[in-house]
Amino acid sequence: MTGRPPELSGRDEALLVQGLRHGPRSRGNLADLTGWSRNTVAAKLANLIHEGWIQEAQEARGDRGRPKVLYRINPKAALVLVARFDADVIGCALCTLDGRIAISEERRMQGDLTAEQTVAELDNMLGRMTETSGVPRVLVRTIVIAVPGPVSGMTRTVPWSRVGVLPADLGARFGMNVVIENDANLMALGMRMEFDPCVSLLFILVQTGIGAGLALPGGLHRGLAGWAGEIGHIPVAAAGETPCICGNRGCVAGIAANPALMRQFARPERPISTVEHMERLVQDGDTQAIMALREAGRNLGEAMTGLVTGLAPDVIAVGGRIARLGDHVITGIRESLALRTPPALSSQIRFAACDDHYIRLTRGAAELALDVMVDGRAG
Ligand SMILES: [Zn+2]
Repeated sequence: MTGRPPELSGRDEALLVQGLRHGPRSRGNLADLTGWSRNTVAAKLANLIHEGWIQEAQEARGDRGRPKVLYRINPKAALVLVARFDADVIGCALCTLDGRIAISEERRMQGDLTAEQTVAELDNMLGRMTETSGVPRVLVRTIVIAVPGPVSGMTRTVPWSRVGVLPADLGARFGMNVVIENDANLMALGMRMEFDPCVSLLFILVQTGIGAGLALPGGLHRGLAGWAGEIGHIPVAAAGETPCICGNRGCVAGIAANPALMRQFARPERPISTVEHMERLVQDGDTQAIMALREAGRNLGEAMTGLVTGLAPDVIAVGGRIARLGDHVITGIRESLALRTPPALSSQIRFAACDDHYIRLTRGAAELALDVMVDGRAG
């Protein structure tokens, strides 16, 4: 890793880097992809290697047994700062362009933060992480901020976040690109890397609230004002008239998100206030706790019905702490969808439990950061 930040020198170079997004390619292959002569490709590749963007990968056997040089994106060409705002924690990670975490840090929020306090906190965390890891700060080229709610434009957090509305000039203050994205969207992108890039993947995130990310073959689907995937605010029969922070009543998050599950798990002689306590109960085989998880899955499935039939996703992935507790929630979702969607559809959808959602989030964030560096916009 050098201390020099890479800059793409032109559109043609960006096109070549784009061509290597899904794996190494040979010079001939890149010539076919771009329509340029092999000499032109060779000259531009030489520039990109000199700038640090691209490196030679392992040699593969050519058609006639001759060794063939492959080219790939240098994952250490730049670093991405991924900052996520959870209910009461700011988690930061520095990662390479392939989403591998170099160093990470978490800070518990003491009360609500104003926009200026948030900027200062991010700056402090970035400073500490670069100092501790010995990475030149100039190599950090993009910041991706993950928030638990709809994101409209690049300058907002969510109304019910404990973090103030982020300043519009965040990029100028840090001297780099800043992308603000919904956390479930990033996890959907990161999870989709396990599959073919052409699959459509619906990622359900169950935490303090319930959100979903839609990674479609053309990229993320964010919807009007970033509201696509806010499935926690779909009313379900079992939620009755329970008021919700969104201003409506009977939203599924009110009975299936972690705070609601904790209330359902609790007994007068056994109060429950942490997700860890909930996890222990399920691991100990508490039947009522397991039934509550299954029921939460059924209610989630009911809420998702229209979306699933309308979208017909190839894969539904479920993440959050409860996804680590066996397949109880997924079983409930499957039961509900089997009853409410055409069997030819529900029987073909693949389900996946995501037990490392923050790692997926970081991978997705690195993918989005590379979009910004190559295309100038988040895909
Ligand atoms: Zn709601």
